Amino acid sequence: MTLNVQAENDVLPSKTEKQEPIAFDQLASRVLSGGEVTRDEALSLLSTSDDDLLPLLHAGFRIRQQHFGKTVQLYFLMNAKSGLCPEDCHYCSQSKISTAPVPKYNILKRDKLMDAAKVASESGAKTYCLVISARGPNEREMKAVEEIVPEIKSKYNLDICACLGLLSEEQAVRLKACGVDRVNHNLNTSEEYYADICTTHTYADRVDTLKRVRDAGMEMCSGGIIGMGERLEDIVSMAFDLKELGVKSIPLNFLNSIDGTPLEGNADLSPQDCLRALAMFRFVNPDRELRISGGREIHLRSLQPLGLYVANSLFVGDYLTTKGQAPQQDYDMIRDMGFEVTQSNC
Ligand code: SF4
Repeated sequence: MTLNVQAENDVLPSKTEKQEPIAFDQLASRVLSGGEVTRDEALSLLSTSDDDLLPLLHAGFRIRQQHFGKTVQLYFLMNAKSGLCPEDCHYCSQSKISTAPVPKYNILKRDKLMDAAKVASESGAKTYCLVISARGPNEREMKAVEEIVPEIKSKYNLDICACLGLLSEEQAVRLKACGVDRVNHNLNTSEEYYADICTTHTYADRVDTLKRVRDAGMEMCSGGIIGMGERLEDIVSMAFDLKELGVKSIPLNFLNSIDGTPLEGNADLSPQDCLRALAMFRFVNPDRELRISGGREIHLRSLQPLGLYVANSLFVGDYLTTKGQAPQQDYDMIRDMGFEVTQSNC
């Protein structure tokens, strides 16, 4: 990722100038008292120099602390249907144009989904994320979800987030009725850049699904992927679109460029790039859950703990088709920071 944007703004200097830590604190104070950052200011946050990263994270931590204290929410992903998607999302190893050797199976039977719920519960997860690779759920998949969700919720103290692709209004209403708390549907990038990463559906299609989720009375979970060749302006645009949609939860991924996908070999991200992006999202979306998601082990590496100064959530365990670090490493990291795992919303 190139960080060469010269942003116009009144509060923060450009990346080439020495930045005074007080500017970040002033911005945080504005946010803490109910104000907002502008798009230009958000762009400047993404242009913060590496030397000024700690003051930026400190200012972001003040915002995080107001809304989430030192708590960390854990999410558990279950890939309930893998590798059979007709869409062409360029980052995805399960797309129709990917040649990555991922497992291919139709929606899993009840026992496997319940076994995974048990693992999620024992992992200390707050939320069980039920994911299928699909343009949208077919009737068989809808029925499977409608059957399993009440059973999981009656047995375990888990919220359910369903990630099933594009949804019709009727499907969203059915998901709400069976007990789904939240639906994940990522915007992934900006509206402007969307056609560069997917041609089989549009950004507007994704926004429409989020609005149906909201109208059906479920929480919206939506985030994106950094490192797909987008401009810094695209990242800012996505952050503001998510804010304006009112999403409750924002998973921020860092591209794990998988061989066999069109974005193979594409992710040029430093740990500092990832931290700047996380901090900017915290300033723009101060009270939303911000989850450090896929790619954190690869791109943040030894700086993962710093991410939690602005983010308040992690996936624990593996991702959809790639390995995450061992859960014990996450528990140790959280404990070493003096933070604590929580199952509440704040
Ligand atoms: S719709 Fe989902 S599963 Fe299908 S290619 Fe896109 S990201 Fe992958």
